[in-house]
Amino acid sequence: MKKKELVVSAIQNGTVIDHIPSDKLFQVIKILNLQDGKDQMLFGTNLESQKLGKKAIIKIQNRFFETSEINKIAIVCPTATLTIIKDYEVVDKRIPSLPDEFEGIVKCYNPKCITNHENVTPKFKVLDKQEIKLQCHYCQRITKEETLSFL
Ligand SMILES: [Zn+2]
Repeated sequence: MKKKELVVSAIQNGTVIDHIPSDKLFQVIKILNLQDGKDQMLFGTNLESQKLGKKAIIKIQNRFFETSEINKIAIVCPTATLTIIKDYEVVDKRIPSLPDEFEGIVKCYNPKCITNHENVTPKFKVLDKQEIKLQCHYCQRITKEETLSFL
């Protein structure tokens, strides 16, 4: 227990994103554009997790995310949790929940969709938040969890 607390509070101010399945780590980094940031970022992957088997964790110094950014994480990993740290103390915990609509991130399942042929960013309406059903704004086709692929 002590060890876990230490991992979480290792940054002074910022955000810890925990309970990311290891294979989703780089997608989360991409969604939040962390690769372009100037802030100190630490991450660990293939850590032991009772819930997920192997998990990843990201710690970003001096970054606090908007709800709209946090909710985008739910598209790739609904299990993620965010802990907000100020002066080494946990001040808030956030759980991403799927947004009503979003752009980018996911490919439209329809091979004939304009977003798969032209330089058009996919745009989706979230029809079902429990088992991921995304309706394409352009072709109306539904992309489900089992047909989900990322840009
Ligand atoms: Zn489409």
